[in-house]
Amino acid sequence: MPVRATGAGRYAPSPSGDLHLGNLRTALLAWLFARTSGRRFLIRIEDLDRARDAGSALRQLDDLAELGLDWDDEPVLQSARGEDHAAAIAQLADAGLVYECFCTRKDILAAPTAPHAPPGAYPGTCRELSLAEREAARERILPRTPALRLRVPAGTAAPQYTDRVLGDQLHGEIDDFVLRRGDGTVAYNLAVVVDDAAMGVDQIVRGDDLAPSTPRQILLQRLLSLPSPPALEYAHVPLVLGPTGKRLAKRDGAVTLAELRAGGVSAARVLSELAASLDLARAGDVVTTAQLAERFDPELLPRGPLIWLPA
Ligand code: GLU
Repeated sequence: MPVRATGAGRYAPSPSGDLHLGNLRTALLAWLFARTSGRRFLIRIEDLDRARDAGSALRQLDDLAELGLDWDDEPVLQSARGEDHAAAIAQLADAGLVYECFCTRKDILAAPTAPHAPPGAYPGTCRELSLAEREAARERILPRTPALRLRVPAGTAAPQYTDRVLGDQLHGEIDDFVLRRGDGTVAYNLAVVVDDAAMGVDQIVRGDDLAPSTPRQILLQRLLSLPSPPALEYAHVPLVLGPTGKRLAKRDGAVTLAELRAGGVSAARVLSELAASLDLARAGDVVTTAQLAERFDPELLPRGPLIWLPA
């Protein structure tokens, strides 16, 4: 396999329960992309919302190992990275790029939106408040505390990048998105950018449901002077869909390794099915992840979603 002096890929699950087949397929792809390009492979547990759900994080790691994936270093816990997150927000604030937002979700929905703004975009209500207005608003919303938003510099063009799976990506305007929520939790977009850079990640493989967040993340990388495309590569991979055509979920029956095992389906069989769905094996073939790495070619990856029909 090619050897690189630096660089890492990663898988970054949220510990919200057991991984299902869609998550496992994304993890396998992230591992294949990293290992076949000579990168290190790292795990980050995205537990900002769920710092107390350590049990499901451990089960997720067991499942990845059982499937035959390995990783370098101890998994990083996102909840332990608060100092770096705060430092990044401070850096943006020093550059005049952060403002307090006092709006509730309802306020945002009720506000008139700019003519070309994407649905749900922040209308900028709190962007230009005076010092006195901000002081009054802080009092008014007690006991709530304000969120922090990025002041997207005027004239910022939507970042363009070429995705390894989706091809050339050009999204529309970027609104003033949240960096830290009113409850003090750091927003996903900020945490993911800061943590990937700190971990030396230069290859991001994840589900294509996250592709719409990528322009915001690239903008943050640039504002924080962190590596960004083309020095950082993205591959947004197709999701696994359930029989109704919606994203695979618990309602679709046995979709986790534990549930499948209970029904007599081994992890080896699951790996074989996932490999077949990636055109890396014939249905029913017994395979190892090392064999899959020998066969993997990112250019030949099937582009469509996999529909999982319960047996
Ligand atoms: N934690 C996110 C998820 O489980 C993935 C974040 C990422 O890969 O950037 O959907």
